[in-house]
This record gives sequence, C-alpha cells and structure tokens, in this order.
Amino acid sequence: MKKILISAATAMLLASTAFAAEEPREPDLGRTFPVAGNVHIALFENRNSVFLVDDERILLSETNFERNAENLRNIIATVSPAPVELIINTHWHGDHIGGNKFFHEHGAVTLSHENTRIRMSEDQVNPVTNQVQLPAQAPEFLPMVTVKDGAVIHWGDETVEIVHYPDAHTDSDLVLYYDNSNVIFAGGLLEYPAYAGVYDPEGFVAALDAVIARADENTKVIPWQGPVVGRAELQEWRDIIETVAANVSALIAEGKTIDEIIAAKPSGQYDEKWGGGRTPERFARDMHYVLTHGTRD
Ligand SMILES: [Zn+2]
Repeated sequence: MKKILISAATAMLLASTAFAAEEPREPDLGRTFPVAGNVHIALFENRNSVFLVDDERILLSETNFERNAENLRNIIATVSPAPVELIINTHWHGDHIGGNKFFHEHGAVTLSHENTRIRMSEDQVNPVTNQVQLPAQAPEFLPMVTVKDGAVIHWGDETVEIVHYPDAHTDSDLVLYYDNSNVIFAGGLLEYPAYAGVYDPEGFVAALDAVIARADENTKVIPWQGPVVGRAELQEWRDIIETVAANVSALIAEGKTIDEIIAAKPSGQYDEKWGGGRTPERFARDMHYVLTHGTRD
C-alpha cells in the first residue's frame, strides 16, 4: 500500500512539473493559408486550425492553445471580418480546445462529439505515463452542442459533413468533409509525418479506411500537424499503424518485455521519416499499452 501511495505522489509531481513546463510559452503570431474554395488554415505552433468563411460568418475547427486564442481570432480577421460563430472540436486534447472560452465570450457556439464534452469535464490521466494529460476544464470551455454519429452543416455555399469514427486517435474523433471544395480535415487522425497517439489500432485503421474511401486523387487532406497532403498520405499512415501494431503484437506473443520490444524497433522502417515528433520509443510504448489493455483507457 505504501508503495502505491508513493507512486501516486510521484505521478502527481511529474504531472505538475509537466504543467509548469507548459506555462511560460509566448503566444504565436500565426499565419493563414488558403486551401480550396472558402477553406483556409490558421497555423499556430505547427497546428492547423481550419476556418470556412462566407460573407457573414465563420466556421472554425480547433481553437489551439488558450494563449493563442486572441491571435487566432485576429489572423482570421485578416481574411474575413465576419465573426466566428460556430466551432468544431475534433476531440478533447488540450491543443484543440484551449481557445474555446475566448471564442465563447465573443459569441461562438462549439460542437463536439459527446465524449469530448464528457472527457473535458473530468481530469484525464494518460494511463501510459500516469500524468494528467488534461485537467478538468471550467464550464466556459465546454462544447455546447454534442453529437453521437455526426452532423451536416450548411454554411454559405459549402456543405460540411461531420463524421464520428469510434476508437481511433481517441474515443471522440470527428473528421470534417468540406464536400463542395473536396477538402478533408482529418483532425487527430493524421499528423504528417509524425506518429500520432493511438487509442485503438484496429479502430484507427478502420477509421482511416473510411476516410480514404471518401477521398479521390484530387482531395486535399489537412492533417492536424504538417502540410496539406492527399489520399496517399492517409494510406501511408494507415499502413504504418497496421504494420507496427502487428510487429508489437508478434513481440508480445513471443513473451518480450516492453524494453525488449522498444529495443527491437517495431517501427524501425518508418522512424527516419516519421519519428521526429512522438519518438519511436513512445510510439512503441503506446502501442504496447493499447494492445495489452484493449484501448488507451
Ligand atoms: Zn489529439
């Protein structure tokens, strides 16, 4: 019992240290890029918020970190003076939802999957590291509209289909299809080229298969991090998840320990290109956890 108490205290200490390291960052000034039709990117700290403009209102997906919220609004205003009226959070991770409160105070309404609102309401602990990944958010940050399977939004000349894919990067992922502009915002389902967190490898592959099936050779795919890509890059990431999950599963079946699995480099063939963000070690550790526990929970 004593040992458990010590490790819990250590975990809390590690968690508070992690937050301390997050705080002093300066706001980013951001940049915008047109994508297609009326779809634009606002880039802050290497993360793509996507905004759709018409003459009167703006639909924004992802509010980045709280420290960047005002600059995010200001840079969107350089493209269109219309107000941000609707926000989509593709999932609950902190870099996607930090500006929610700011935009709510300026009249916006936020929509998410129902699990995003549930998870934002309580402390979220990363089970692999035992660190608090997201502390419970104040009510002012919480999405006001939640969906289960998805929604269709008619916004000016654009039709935006919002689809939930269960158990992929999280249990709350939404992907946005800008049908008239042939643009897909993949949300947490793609960071290019970087290993993203995997909540459930099987669900993640199924989700990517479904997104790939809706894309053609001209579709512009916006990842959460990285440049605008296409269907081929979704396929590349889909195949990596499948291959690395199979490699880690085989090593688990051989009775290897986590340290032996990391040493065997289960993502080795991809690491040079993909290992610059989340490290190969962390990717292997995450994959080992989900394959031995079912999901990230
Ligand atoms: Zn995420």
